[in-house]
Amino acid sequence: MTDTSGKSWHFGLLGYPLGHSFSPHLQTAALLGTGLAGKYHLYSLPPEEVNSIIDLLNLVRSGEIDGLNVTIPYKQVVLPHLDELTSTAAGIGAVNTIFARAGVLVGDNTDAPAFLADLVSKTGWRRDDPYPATGKLPVALVLGAGGAARAVVYALGQAGWHVWVVARRIEQGRELLFSLRHHISQPMHTITFDGLPVLCAAVAPKFDLLVNATPVGMSPEVTHSPWPKNLDYPVNTYVYDLVYNPPETAFLRAASASGLRATNGLGMLVEQAALAFEHWTGRTAPRGAMHAAAIRITDGDAHA
Ligand code: NAP
Repeated sequence: MTDTSGKSWHFGLLGYPLGHSFSPHLQTAALLGTGLAGKYHLYSLPPEEVNSIIDLLNLVRSGEIDGLNVTIPYKQVVLPHLDELTSTAAGIGAVNTIFARAGVLVGDNTDAPAFLADLVSKTGWRRDDPYPATGKLPVALVLGAGGAARAVVYALGQAGWHVWVVARRIEQGRELLFSLRHHISQPMHTITFDGLPVLCAAVAPKFDLLVNATPVGMSPEVTHSPWPKNLDYPVNTYVYDLVYNPPETAFLRAASASGLRATNGLGMLVEQAALAFEHWTGRTAPRGAMHAAAIRITDGDAHA
């Protein structure tokens, strides 16, 4: 499949530092898989050059750049410079994907739908299912209260889940819940990691899902886990680690050893990139090719 329009697509990633980003590999695989020509650039902008963001965004507005991904520390910094936000980006209060529609600069957050899509594909959970079997609201325990946790809590809350956020700083957990209060009608609570043993020992709630949305366990600190030592995992819970490098974190290894079903965040990573590609090009993203590219990187890292 080859594109005969002669167009060369320009995408990029804005952030700092950009280190070993998977995004160029995923988007290059997407371009190749759809037969489109183009390049994915890294716009590594140190904080002292933050004013250059406006120039970069103008290139998107004018169509010279077809699409941008945004990562730490600019996911919120870009908000005032955009013309429109999707309801998801507005709800989460952070943007990871930018594109222009007829000169209008739009910001979206593809992390939230990507997380939910991957959860559904891995667990088969459906909104209308009486799940758990009691017919009660499904209950999730989310570790971390940063940017990724915000997208996860938004996605779960919108999908009808009852969410507990475990923050190492309680004020960060409270701030997360406060900022989502107009977008989520389900119950949401926050506790610190110190409160986990008491919460887990309580008769209710029973957790259907346990999510790690902290960076703990990421390469190179692969022996670390966010779950407290000497505390059993909740029974029958599905364990989801947003970390994808290494593919099996200490958190996931312990979950599997406890007989729990578990997954890493690679599916979410591929899906958020696929959704961005679809915004930028209007083409269906070749998810299989993108997934294969992601696996090649994690395999390469593991063998490096
Ligand atoms: P972030 O905004 O920096 O937030 C990290 C959160 O984890 C904060 O609440 C932080 O608390 C907490 N935390 C950090 N170290 C901790 C520790 N030792 N114990 C307990 N809590 C700790 O980062 P983020 O953007 O949310 O990303 C979090 C992770 O998700 C990263 O590994 C990232 O790669 C991954 N992620 C994956 C995907 C995917 O597609 N799979 C998408 C987005 C993010 P403090 O503020 O107190 O440090």
